[in-house]
Amino acid sequence: TGNGLIVSFGEMLIDFVPTTSGVSLAEAHGFLKAPGGAPANVAIAVTRLGGKAAFVGKLGDDEFGHMLAGILKENNVNADGITFDQGARTALAFVTLRADGEREFMFYRNPSADMLLKPEDLNLELIRSAKVFHYGSISLIVEPCRSAHLKAIEVAKEAGSLLSYDPNLRLPLWPSPEEARQQMLSIWDKADIIKVSDVELEFLTGKVDDASALSLWHPNLKLLLVTLGEQGSKYYTKNFHGSVDAFHVNTVDTTGAGDSFVGALLSKIVDDQSILEDEPRLREVLKFANASGAITTTKKGAIPALPTESDVLNLIKG
Ligand code: ADP
Repeated sequence: TGNGLIVSFGEMLIDFVPTTSGVSLAEAHGFLKAPGGAPANVAIAVTRLGGKAAFVGKLGDDEFGHMLAGILKENNVNADGITFDQGARTALAFVTLRADGEREFMFYRNPSADMLLKPEDLNLELIRSAKVFHYGSISLIVEPCRSAHLKAIEVAKEAGSLLSYDPNLRLPLWPSPEEARQQMLSIWDKADIIKVSDVELEFLTGKVDDASALSLWHPNLKLLLVTLGEQGSKYYTKNFHGSVDAFHVNTVDTTGAGDSFVGALLSKIVDDQSILEDEPRLREVLKFANASGAITTTKKGAIPALPTESDVLNLIKG
């Protein structure tokens, strides 16, 4: 696992998950507090595996914001890129798995502190020190965090960081599907690595197959990944493409699997980007990333379920 710094940009929030599953939000009696937010999950995925990560984002100067900052610190994530908003509160999400299997979300975001991250808040020195800069999530939806997001991408790119983008579509938060699609694609050609889920691939292209994935290729891209849950993952580069099978595990909650996958991948390539051009070594890394994602599905929540490197190696060894 690498020594170079992976900087992850975006939101961190608390998911409130009912203590009993299969009930609607209105029927829930109690909630568990599960820290999350895709970019924060990625940062912790990296440090759990033994790598170096920093998180850049804004939290409320409230109980929840300080709890989240504490979780980053406990997990050895560099917090020099975090600012606290003096007015707005930390973002909260209420998540339930209804009896029909559908996930139901309710967000406290009117506006929450993460949305108020301004370009002036950015710790540019930290961003410039990123070997890998990872981004992409709900911070593209509204101002001023959208401008902060775009500026951070530019600063990292200018500094020569490898840019990793996970659009993390959260469709209900967008004003319209069309706007979501447009905004996602508007930053498409900046990234060196893009990871989409099968759902996002279908949203963007209408299909899930090699041709639809390849229609998302851009000339500067080094690696495109499509995650397929229990079908594993697919990879596309300029010179080769293929798929890597998933591991069979006892899945209880898939939250954070994609973030775990991304964190594992980045932690393996941060010190050696030549892996991106070497298919056998890339396949090894994706096997590691698939194993990391699989383990994350075996426990409730995202952050508590992120594996250490030895957990991953044990699953691979079988
Ligand atoms: P996302 O969260 O982006 O939708 P996925 O759910 O596809 O991502 O998960 C990322 C990776 O984690 C997958 O490519 C796969 O390797 C692994 N994974 C996810 N769900 C499962 C599962 N049920 N069983 C085994 N591996 C899984």
